[in-house]
Amino acid sequence: RGRASAVLSALDIPTTSAELDGVYDGAWKGSGDILESICPTTGEVLARVRSASPSELHAAIEKAREAYKDFRLLPAPRRGELVRQIREALAAKRDELGALVSLEMGKIRTEGVGEVQEFIDIADYAVGLSRMMNGRVVASERPGHSILEVPNPLGVIAVLSAFNFPVAVYGWNLCISMAAGNATIWKPSPSTPLCAIAVTKIVSGVLERNGISGAVAGLVTGGKDVGEAVVESADVDMVSFTGSEAVGRKVGKSVQSRFGKTLLELGGNNAAIIMPDADLSLAVPAVFFGSVGTAGQRCTSTRRLYLHKSIASEFLSRLQSLHASLKPGDPLEAGTLLGPMHNAQALSIYDAAIAQLKSSDAEVLTGGGRFTDAPYDKGYFVRPAIALPKTLDPRDEIWSQERFAPVLYTAVFDELEQAIEWNNAVPQGLSSSLWTRDLRNVGKWIGPAGSDAGIVNVNVGTSGAEIGAAFGGNKSTGWGRESGGDAWKQYVRWSACTINFSDEAPLAQGVSFVS
Ligand code: NAD
Repeated sequence: RGRASAVLSALDIPTTSAELDGVYDGAWKGSGDILESICPTTGEVLARVRSASPSELHAAIEKAREAYKDFRLLPAPRRGELVRQIREALAAKRDELGALVSLEMGKIRTEGVGEVQEFIDIADYAVGLSRMMNGRVVASERPGHSILEVPNPLGVIAVLSAFNFPVAVYGWNLCISMAAGNATIWKPSPSTPLCAIAVTKIVSGVLERNGISGAVAGLVTGGKDVGEAVVESADVDMVSFTGSEAVGRKVGKSVQSRFGKTLLELGGNNAAIIMPDADLSLAVPAVFFGSVGTAGQRCTSTRRLYLHKSIASEFLSRLQSLHASLKPGDPLEAGTLLGPMHNAQALSIYDAAIAQLKSSDAEVLTGGGRFTDAPYDKGYFVRPAIALPKTLDPRDEIWSQERFAPVLYTAVFDELEQAIEWNNAVPQGLSSSLWTRDLRNVGKWIGPAGSDAGIVNVNVGTSGAEIGAAFGGNKSTGWGRESGGDAWKQYVRWSACTINFSDEAPLAQGVSFVS
């Protein structure tokens, strides 16, 4: 308990209140269903949070819309200045917030802190962007005319986020959305409400100090019902959804049925391909981190491993040695590499994956079970697995579904073309990684007949990304792009404005409309 209290009180989260308010729309409130924040390491209830009731939810969306009406008029560089102050406030609490991520989500401390750093990095990016969200002047075919392509703020952006990145995903969205002049309303995962409350306290503190309505960055905690109501609201102009393919499919259809905008960041089923000339001293640790890091619960985790036949047995024996050294531990403790899975539901995904491997006669080379000795029996600790399925058909369920757990499915190939075909044959298209030193392989991999994923790495693992490039995946991963690159263009509405400076009013294409 002392361990949790220290983390929570460093972030001004009361540890003595029976229940916490989980809604912020300029003021803190909450009278809906109770959410429990459970520590995945110890199983203890960290806090009980009052989520948004239906009327609080609707009021929060209304307030966000009101706040947007003023906020859109603030010049973009001044909005950028607010993002800069949020960046500073976050940086001052980086380690504390990172510890809360470890406490509540279960990822190890360096990854928890890394997640907050990602928020800081995208804030830096958005500050610069606030002076560079430029439109264009297009040459008109008509004399004395100009055409402008103008970006304006879009409105209210709802961010629905998954449990595994309880801080960074909101950060990517908030910073860009705010710089673009929108009000943002956040519906976090129901199992990580404390991270959402802590971040919202930091952000709202900055807004309030600047005399800006806190409803510019509102929070509505809750489960499926709250999520559905946000998605269905006609007052939400864009839904940026990060989560599973199954829920994303429903969200996509619902928003489409009212012709709203979506940005979907869904499941990944990411492959690493190891060529005969790969530097194994780099590739083996990268696959180890990719498949075991965050206990296999990153959207970019390495789930499929394709090994060239000439290095397969050496690669696997080196990977198995790393697995043998793996010990579970408290994610808050320095040196822990393997934290728990997030909750009972995450654990059931792992159990189902192991059961399926066993029933399909796959060879399980290592792992495949829970840690049942004290103190790990209290948390959701599992042994990361490496398996060789019997079937090589990538369309078979064993290969084609994302299993959000530390299970690595492995196969051996002869030719790069075959491995690329396997890489592309699954429904998802998030991240992919090729290990080679041969430029000709690189050319094939990043070219038209190469990987069809949104992230196509060379001698870099599948897992993790920097904020500078637009992040996202293709196919059933949803085609969304967040963070850097041109992702900001989705957070604005574009107008083509044709302006006539002349004394004539000609029609385009030379059309004449005189009798
Ligand atoms: P999830 O789909 O269960 O939940 C995501 C969010 O949707 C939560 O906030 C949840 O409360 C909400 N929700 C649930 N049902 C809803 C409904 N009917 N309508 C509206 N909202 C609803 O996902 P999860 O288990 O929290 O996260 C794991 C998944 O997220 C994995 O599939 C992972 O690959 C994916 N993910 C993808 C990315 C990416 O960038 N592509 C990043 C992180 C996680």
